[in-house]
Amino acid sequence: MDIDAVHSTSSRNATPFVESLSEDELWAILAGVGAISQDGHYKVAPTIHTRQVIWPHLVMQYASTHARRVAYALYERISDLKVSHVLSPSPSGQALGFAVADLFGARAIYATTGSDGRYQMLHPGFEIRRGDHVLIVDDGVYTGSTIADLQDIIRSSYSECIGVGVILDRNVTGMELAPRFEALLKVEIKVHEVYNTLTGTCKLCEWRKELEDELASTSIEGERERVRSQLGKLRVIDDRTFD
Ligand SMILES: [Zn+2]
Repeated sequence: MDIDAVHSTSSRNATPFVESLSEDELWAILAGVGAISQDGHYKVAPTIHTRQVIWPHLVMQYASTHARRVAYALYERISDLKVSHVLSPSPSGQALGFAVADLFGARAIYATTGSDGRYQMLHPGFEIRRGDHVLIVDDGVYTGSTIADLQDIIRSSYSECIGVGVILDRNVTGMELAPRFEALLKVEIKVHEVYNTLTGTCKLCEWRKELEDELASTSIEGERERVRSQLGKLRVIDDRTFD
């Protein structure tokens, strides 16, 4: 079927029964589904550790409630775009990409990572061609590297990236991502809570090291239990959803 025909049948106001979503409501939903952690030790990019993390992809598990409202809120922001394909990184943006593609009546396609962890290719069997209008959808943006990878995939197919849509913008690099970039929420990262393990030392890693030394030097069981409990909180959790 011709993709323009698909689009023209689907530039409908697809789900008018979906309630609109304010920023406050979205924050409440994120908190309600346990997507916000304020007190941890997260690897959010290959060399960046943070204390706080937000996992917007968790809202997408509530397929017919939260997910539907979030997808529609994003769609409303960009419904003027002519979209033939929605490209998302798998797995982080897959559910949102599918839901947004459904609203546009576009194809939902996914990119996959290579052995170096970068998004290098479309999943086998998917394709985009010269002249296609590709919208990138992901749950969040952190360093912008995933978006840049997806844009490279689109460019190599001689098609056009017409925009980027995400739930959460935590773009710490300030990189310009696309001529058209829409985020439902923007979060200012507190610089003092972002640790670059390449150029500096992570305070949380330092603290963990001190506790490990403390654990090694004490044999008092009550004390060891207390230190173990603190160490548990400082375990580095690899968060690949914000690359
Ligand atoms: Zn660290």
